Amino acid sequence: MNIIGELEVNVIESLLVVQKHDCSIRELEKELRDVPKRKKDEQQRLKEHKEALAKAEEGLKAKLAETKKFEIESDSRKEKISKLKTQQLEVKTNKEYSTIQSEIKTIQDSISKLEDEQLLVMEEVEKARAEVQQKQNALSEEEKAVLQDVGFLAQRLSAIGQELAKIKEIRTAEAKGVDSKWLAQYDRIFSRKDKGLVQIEEGVCGGCHMALPPAVIHRAKRMDNNMVICDFCGRLLY
Ligand SMILES: [Zn+2]
Repeated sequence: MNIIGELEVNVIESLLVVQKHDCSIRELEKELRDVPKRKKDEQQRLKEHKEALAKAEEGLKAKLAETKKFEIESDSRKEKISKLKTQQLEVKTNKEYSTIQSEIKTIQDSISKLEDEQLLVMEEVEKARAEVQQKQNALSEEEKAVLQDVGFLAQRLSAIGQELAKIKEIRTAEAKGVDSKWLAQYDRIFSRKDKGLVQIEEGVCGGCHMALPPAVIHRAKRMDNNMVICDFCGRLLY
């Protein structure tokens, strides 16, 4: 290997180190960008739980109102019966008496029917109450999870900030050792692709996996300080 060749290897090695840092920086920055979305998702889940609870509570309220209606109706019918009984004391004929008696009987029957219906509604009230309880539990579970995650995210955010600052500093220092022509080319490609510099593996480009012409492979392996670029994906090859 001649001296130019060694220089070349150094450029590749230095660029690979820079690329490793760039990949870490990109990953950390992505995590940073995802934090607001993650927070928003959590707030959305909380909102959904709160809405489900409010809906269950409304359902319970409606069922309770229904039982109240039954009570009022039943009370008013009972009152009517007691009025009829008072009237009954004042009637003069048997016929009048039995007419009122039959009216009382009709109302009493209607009250029994009403009470049967009320029992069914009471069962529904219990179901609605259980539903409210279940939604309340789900909401407090979610609130607990969100609270934990908020703490975790705050920690992670500060860790990412520190890590990023450190890696960027190292990256800048490493990049200073790389030939500026190579670095500019690499930077341009890396900004658009997952990697700027890829290895040729068994005759194919390590970036796009297309089979490379032998001449390209030959030039890339010649290490003569000329940059070789994959015709298919535009990444630097080595
Ligand atoms: Zn390629």
